[in-house]
Amino acid sequence: MEKQSSSKKLKVELIAITPDAENVIEQAGRTCYLSFDKIGANSQEEFIQRLLKMGHETPLEHAYATFRIKNCSRAMTHQLVRHRLMAVSQQSQRYVNENQFCYVVPETMPDEFVDDFCGDMKIIQDMYDKWRSRGLKKEDARFVLPNACTSEIVVSADFREWRHIFKLRTSPKAQWEIRNACSAMLEILRKHSKACFEDI
Ligand SMILES: Cc1cc2nc3c(=O)[nH]c(=O)nc-3n(C[C@H](O)[C@H](O)[C@H](O)COP(=O)(O)OP(=O)(O)OC[C@H]3O[C@@H](n4cnc5c(N)ncnc54)[C@H](O)[C@@H]3O)c2cc1C
Repeated sequence: MEKQSSSKKLKVELIAITPDAENVIEQAGRTCYLSFDKIGANSQEEFIQRLLKMGHETPLEHAYATFRIKNCSRAMTHQLVRHRLMAVSQQSQRYVNENQFCYVVPETMPDEFVDDFCGDMKIIQDMYDKWRSRGLKKEDARFVLPNACTSEIVVSADFREWRHIFKLRTSPKAQWEIRNACSAMLEILRKHSKACFEDI
């Protein structure tokens, strides 16, 4: 069985983002005040920061970003998909065969127990294969699969929702894997829009 190793680390990839997002947000936001005359070379950053300070966040909903996350556990994706304003497409265990499933070893697992953990995954793989060979469909054989099983997911949200998600999920109170995934997405979005994400 293939196992999660250092060569199969969590991967976060930006698939799409609203072009010239800060300009779109400024154009939308300034419509509220009909203050288009104030649009200038460096007006976006200052205007967006002012919006955020006063809690006027809806203009940020005009910008969107889509990510693909790979090599993450179903334990992580189960938490991420609770954010209902986010659009989600996830690898299906009904249609995709898990006869060689990969898995995430928790980063908190002490080194001396990693082999034991991988042994447990092998036992679970054998259980899955047994039920498949007895004729169970993939959608039912998956009942024995672990939360550690890796998944691939594409998630889209507007900038206001991403800010909300990052605040919750990059906090020290969040679980380490979702914190790693959200920190990686935040780092990418900061490069594209400093004004919208640098304060988080
Ligand atoms: C540290 C942490 C621990 C957690 N532990 C658990 C746990 O043990 N068990 C568990 O089930 N979940 C848990 N969750 C998940 C949590 O309860 C939320 O489901 C998740 O964070 C998504 O919240 P959301 O506000 O983004 O999402 P959504 O539910 O998608 O809501 C989006 C926004 O819409 C508004 N909204 C939505 N519904 C209503 C409503 N009915 N009334 C008023 N406003 C609404 C709110 O402003 C909300 O922020 C945990 C989350 C975190 C961050």
